[in-house]
Amino acid sequence: MRKKIYLLKLGKIDHQLMEFLEENLKEIYPFDFVSEELRIELDNAFNPIRKQYLSTPIILRLKREKTKDSYMCLGILDVDIYADGLNFIFGEADSINSIAIISLKRLEEGFYGKKENSALLRIRALKEAVHEIGHLFGLRHCKNPLCVMFFSNSLDDTDRKLHNFCNSCKTTLEEILKNEL
Ligand code: ZN
Ligand code: ZN
Repeated sequence: MRKKIYLLKLGKIDHQLMEFLEENLKEIYPFDFVSEELRIELDNAFNPIRKQYLSTPIILRLKREKTKDSYMCLGILDVDIYADGLNFIFGEADSINSIAIISLKRLEEGFYGKKENSALLRIRALKEAVHEIGHLFGLRHCKNPLCVMFFSNSLDDTDRKLHNFCNSCKTTLEEILKNEL
């Protein structure tokens, strides 16, 4: 049986976006991707002063939801998230527990007062998803600005990079996958 990576919808996430992620992620990672909706309270992660959600309690909460057949989990959020010391984050990965999250909030054109663009949102979400799952497999940040493992400090960084790996990261991932499959 192929190992399963769960894509957990936390909030109002577009159905087409989820399908797009599933289809493209399985091309990149040789695993079964399963989408599921998860209704959980994230109140304890909310910071009312910043009006943002702290990533750590969200990841800890997902740890409680992780099922036995779940090899990895990627939570997809529609709220703004941050980590200590950072104004915001696009996503975070906890490779020890094999749980990662991404937020669509700052990937949406509407966040910047622009007209929404669902095609652009889908590709941005895919890049962030590939990136965080890459971390779950043990990949580190890459210096190549076109590589998906490049650290996105801004949306420009996300838009510049591609949704796949540079040759160096690709080789590293293939080595890792040899032991995982
Ligand atoms: Zn990263
Ligand atoms: Zn790379």
